[in-house]
Amino acid sequence: MAAPAWLVKLGKIAAQDLAGTEAGEKVAKAIAAVVSAVIAGLLSLLIAVPSAFLHIPAVEVEEAANFMQAVKEVSETTVTDDDPEGVEIPWKEVTAVAGVLYHQDFSGVSEGEIKRLARYWIEKHEKKDKDVWYDEQGKKHVDIEIITWYTLRSMGEVLDELNFSKEDKEITFNYLRALNEGGMRPPRGWKAVPRQGWCWPVPGYDKARDISSAYGFRVHPIDNLPSFHRGVDIVAGRGTIVVSAKDGIVQTVGEDETFGRYLVIESGLYTFKYAHLQKVLVSEGEQVELGDVIGRVGNTGKSTGPHLHFEVKFLGEHQNPLNFF
Ligand SMILES: [Zn+2]
Repeated sequence: MAAPAWLVKLGKIAAQDLAGTEAGEKVAKAIAAVVSAVIAGLLSLLIAVPSAFLHIPAVEVEEAANFMQAVKEVSETTVTDDDPEGVEIPWKEVTAVAGVLYHQDFSGVSEGEIKRLARYWIEKHEKKDKDVWYDEQGKKHVDIEIITWYTLRSMGEVLDELNFSKEDKEITFNYLRALNEGGMRPPRGWKAVPRQGWCWPVPGYDKARDISSAYGFRVHPIDNLPSFHRGVDIVAGRGTIVVSAKDGIVQTVGEDETFGRYLVIESGLYTFKYAHLQKVLVSEGEQVELGDVIGRVGNTGKSTGPHLHFEVKFLGEHQNPLNFF
């Protein structure tokens, strides 16, 4: 099944280029640096608010596809001779309810479970139809036919039946709103859930304690110019193993002045960059699994000490890596 149009559309929203400024002469450069720092500071205030909500999507593309398919199959069971259209169960409502019931972790929601939930949206009706007729001998016949048809329940009715509390109902409607807005944002106040199939790229190093530079605006430690940091810097001893954050395929093994020795690994709709490596231990085109050793922490490229610069892109757009772990 193809990715839903609303998610594909999101992916097409071009990523803003928020890179730092450049200046020619020394003086101009210094002035530009000060001015830009102020502008960047102001911008970061503006941008910090929405990006705080840029957690993992309310639902992943594959998960959404599973919901659409299973819900469609249940809808099809409501087609009868008397009602050839049947009812169309809204898959986003089913997804929102599951999102709340399973705390946004869809990994354990089977197809059967989606179908069980979807059935809450349909109400079965039956009517006995009596047909009285007389044959040629004048004998009376009574035929009884049972007519069955289905109607759609509202989400409010479903939530009542599921005994959702007032708070849970509100969360569910928020969840639905998030899905209607494109699914990239989980509902307000929700945090990213650690997902199955992801692993922190530098085992043994802490995502809170060992981050020397966070995602977002900063003054670059080497050229002192304000710039947008598109990843996180994880400080670790030289030679520490770096592992693949997800199953994927090595797209690029490269080396340049900025990133030093680096790796780009593609994993479905996600792309990961691992930079400043001392050693790269995989080659282009190689398939890697979650947790496979792919390199070693180094200090190559524009770097002030051994660390891993780690970037995550979703549908081509940079994301704060910490939102996934
Ligand atoms: Zn970095």
